[in-house]
Amino acid sequence: MRKPFIAGNWKMNTNSATAVALASGLVKELDSVDTVDVSVCPPFVYLQSVAAALSASNIALGAQDVFYESNGAFTGEISCEMLKDCSCSYVILGHSERRHIIGETDELINKKVKAAISGGLLPIFCVGELLEERDAGKTMEVVESQIRKGLDGLCKERVQAVTIAYEPVWAIGTGRTATPQQAQEVHAMIRGLLETLFDKNVAQAMRIQYGGSAKPSNTAELMVQPDVDGLLVGGASLKVADFSQMVKTVA
Ligand code: PEP
Repeated sequence: MRKPFIAGNWKMNTNSATAVALASGLVKELDSVDTVDVSVCPPFVYLQSVAAALSASNIALGAQDVFYESNGAFTGEISCEMLKDCSCSYVILGHSERRHIIGETDELINKKVKAAISGGLLPIFCVGELLEERDAGKTMEVVESQIRKGLDGLCKERVQAVTIAYEPVWAIGTGRTATPQQAQEVHAMIRGLLETLFDKNVAQAMRIQYGGSAKPSNTAELMVQPDVDGLLVGGASLKVADFSQMVKTVA
């Protein structure tokens, strides 16, 4: 049985005061929840203050990206060791905003996924198609290719550190959520692919989150789908009431 996993991606939002207030509010609301894994991913610069606000809670800390080298002349980058030093457990990799705005490639994301696992972090590895790719009937092909390339070179043991987040790009931050059936269809394909690439036990053990305008009102219908194991939440994770309601709905 896969434990549900809800993660909040704060993106480039909050400041030093509101980040701590958001984390502290979630600790108060969610402290008794232990049937759902919960994580929040603030901007790098607030990781340490949010870590302090989360200490002694069940809420894990995650980052929004990491570089694949461990130290050296890589101006502006952050290593796995640095994230571990700031108490991070998770790291979001391959988010569509990094693929499509920053220009990250499947090859770069694959290096980051491997480095994160070697560095003791748990990657939340994002995949998802653009609207024109869905309209052209290419959703499965695009997502399959992203997964094959992103997980390339991983063995059965190491890949189990990964949570996959299926995030149709047309649903991210747009208010337009995939229907539960659209989500389930892609999640089932992903699980089948994991079985082909690894084995049945690995495919059954790995968690696949849905992301894309998830909110309190659509949490239940998405989460009852058999292959939807959690949510990666953007906008709704910035409000204590919304994010905690989503976690409680799942719990
Ligand atoms: C995300 O940032 O991963 C995301 C899914 O955003 P939103 O929930 O705002 O669509």
